[in-house]
Amino acid sequence: MHPKKERTLVVIKPDGIQRTLIGEIIGRFEKIGFKLVAMKMLVPTEEFVEQHYTLDPEWRRVTGEKRVKAAKEKGEVLPTEDPYEITAIILQKLKKYLASGPVVAMIWEGAHAVEIVRKLVGGTEPRSTDVGSIRGDYVMDSYIMADSDDRAIRNLVHASGSVEEANKEIALWFRPEEVINYRLVQEEILYDVNLDGILE
Ligand code: ADP
Ligand code: MG
Repeated sequence: MHPKKERTLVVIKPDGIQRTLIGEIIGRFEKIGFKLVAMKMLVPTEEFVEQHYTLDPEWRRVTGEKRVKAAKEKGEVLPTEDPYEITAIILQKLKKYLASGPVVAMIWEGAHAVEIVRKLVGGTEPRSTDVGSIRGDYVMDSYIMADSDDRAIRNLVHASGSVEEANKEIALWFRPEEVINYRLVQEEILYDVNLDGILE
């Protein structure tokens, strides 16, 4: 498969919808040159949210470890350092967060889509992620804020973390007939080998 055919799942979370950032977020992916190949709005159930986050068998460990690392960097003391205990609590909060209202799910296609969409989205914690990313520019939540209010981090968007995760997530969120194969005119410029046919 050519790298330009890579696909990734993006979900604008309920806070992104409530902050009226749908257009802004979609614009970031459009402007870099990705192609939208599927899109829908829905209110996910808590069961569906759990299914989504546990598709990757490593997610519990990685997400728990990420929290422990962030705490060490800030000198915070956590009630437990067991990544699995940490993620069990996060998952409960995440279910409430993602099922709290409508979300917009999309599939974006283009060269290195998974990696570049993650770069545009930014890191998990808006507080520490780079300015210029979606999570860095449009919200200012933190692990400390989320922990003191006993809720999930509100960071506007989900984006698949790897090509493998993307493929599993796309299959969970969309039926094959909901994904549209079509030609986008700008692909002539993005991916054409010779850039011929511009001059008359
Ligand atoms: P990402 O969305 O950056 O891939 P994860 O997959 O690790 O991050 O976690 C999924 C979502 O769970 C995050 O986007 C965030 O909303 C929430 N989350 C992750 N870690 C924590 C935490 N320690 N406390 C509260 N919420 C968290
Ligand atoms: Mg993730």
